[in-house]
Amino acid sequence: EFILEMEQITKEFPGVKALDQVQLKVRKGTVHALMGENGAGKSTLMKILIGMYSPDRGRILFDGEELKLGGVKDALDKGISMIHQELSPIPNMTVAENIFLGREPSFRLTGWVKARELTDQTRRLFERLEIEIDPHARMSELSIANTQMVEIAKAISYNAKLIVMDEPTSAITEKEVFHLFRIIRSLKQEGVSIIYITHKMDELAEITDELTVLRDGKYIGTRPSLNTTREQLIEMMVGREVQQIFR
Ligand code: ADP
Ligand code: MG
Ligand code: MG
Repeated sequence: EFILEMEQITKEFPGVKALDQVQLKVRKGTVHALMGENGAGKSTLMKILIGMYSPDRGRILFDGEELKLGGVKDALDKGISMIHQELSPIPNMTVAENIFLGREPSFRLTGWVKARELTDQTRRLFERLEIEIDPHARMSELSIANTQMVEIAKAISYNAKLIVMDEPTSAITEKEVFHLFRIIRSLKQEGVSIIYITHKMDELAEITDELTVLRDGKYIGTRPSLNTTREQLIEMMVGREVQQIFR
């Protein structure tokens, strides 16, 4: 039932315990919000998940198997993908080239035959996701929202089972958010699970199923998003003491 179970994850940097026995359990085919103030440990936990950092201790079960990652490429091969907050597309590459970078359909194809094959595959992928972007466009010409869409399509082309989205709505318009949420819902229908990092409380009920809160590198709790009030969430994120000061 769980696609991901991270348990007792601890990670120390010189002078900082970024994560102290943290857990994160994500159900298959759900959107799981990861919440917490700046410095809570969200990014560190996700970097461990995608193989950028190794934890000092703890255990990760992914799709029922213990996950041992040697690096980011490993995570991609296993079906874990992350859409980073700061995207850095390779400017002179086309959308289709970017998606199939490093794994062209057949190494025997060359020139325009290869280009057309990449374009066709990209079109099919975009149709499935209802994305309307020209596969020939240069990555540098795309808006932030479209760059994200390309990254999501790329993740799907790797058969991602779990996609981490780091504040995906922080730099896009309302209309683009609407489109993104539509894509997220269709991914869910296909059984893809999503970890959704956000600071926006109004997005929780709209797009997420459950939420996990971290505070100062510690696991605070996991709850269904729908029946978690704003007050409960603030209390989880900043602690009872602080909330009383604000009242
Ligand atoms: P969040 O993403 O929730 O804002 P982070 O995971 O980025 O939190 O950071 C958690 C803590 O770990 C912070 O105190 C941060 O300064 C520290 N930290 C994160 N990455 C590093 C690093 N590479 N080296 C040293 N300290 C780090
Ligand atoms: Mg951030
Ligand atoms: Mg962060």
